Amino acid sequence: MNEDVFDKYMKAGRIAATARDTGADHIKTGVSFSEIVNEIESIIKDNEAGIAFPTNISINHIAAHFTPQTKDTHVFHKGDIVKVDVGAHVDGYIADTAVTIEVETNEFDSLRQASADALDEAIQLMKPGVNLSQIGKKVEETIKGHGFKPIENLTGHSLNRYNLHSGMSVPSIASTSFQRRPRKDDAIAVEPFATTGSGRVISGSGSHIYLLKNKMNFRRLRDRRSRLVIKKLQHHFHSLPFASRWCEGIIPNADRSLLMLEQKGMVHHFPQLVEQNKGMVSQKEHTMIVTEDGCQVTTYGKHEQ
Ligand code: MN
Ligand code: MN
Repeated sequence: MNEDVFDKYMKAGRIAATARDTGADHIKTGVSFSEIVNEIESIIKDNEAGIAFPTNISINHIAAHFTPQTKDTHVFHKGDIVKVDVGAHVDGYIADTAVTIEVETNEFDSLRQASADALDEAIQLMKPGVNLSQIGKKVEETIKGHGFKPIENLTGHSLNRYNLHSGMSVPSIASTSFQRRPRKDDAIAVEPFATTGSGRVISGSGSHIYLLKNKMNFRRLRDRRSRLVIKKLQHHFHSLPFASRWCEGIIPNADRSLLMLEQKGMVHHFPQLVEQNKGMVSQKEHTMIVTEDGCQVTTYGKHEQ
């Protein structure tokens, strides 16, 4: 990896970590989801980075994929288990990172510790040529050692420029279907999820997070209005996920336009991912670059390493 690219990954990581920790620190009873995501996304923009995906705020048995809409009314409640998942990019080089906090109680410290310890173990093992299934095995053992279950159908993922999921998956279980081996210079986000539930997520209702489908199809699009809207979305969001609340002022009648594109199969509207037995869920995530003999984490906060 040339130095310039490495520096961009590190810069994105520093900014994402600051935004994540500042936002998480301000979560308390009665504070709105909107206030926190706006703060996090403002920090990213103020540092001249791009937002790699809408800030996810996922509560309790919702493992991932929720971002508030413009007129969202959600507020945090005492005892909520909150996953804050943040993405920043510098020139397309992405940092993806998440923490879990518990709002003003400490009932689920060990659940949070389980995903945090599992992530630490994964970071210790990450290096060129390591079998990702071995990392999954260690993550599974660590989470089970705390008395919880890993979520088996959520994985970490390799990253590429303007590409949040570039093909390689990092499991949280010992599964033979994950035999890929990372190479030096690969950028990878590792994100163990631990739960008091069954260890699987299922799709819930809409997340308000969208992604344009493969742009190759759009050139042949007859409908001029859809083509214009898509052109604008591509211009603003590249090939990265975006929030409906970001579309106001960019496309006319944002919510209706998005629904139309969704129905025509041109955009994907992510569902919320919900633990199937309504178990509590914790997540911790860091982005790392594979080095000669280990990895360099890009998203450590002030109090880590
Ligand atoms: Mn993430
Ligand atoms: Mn991720």
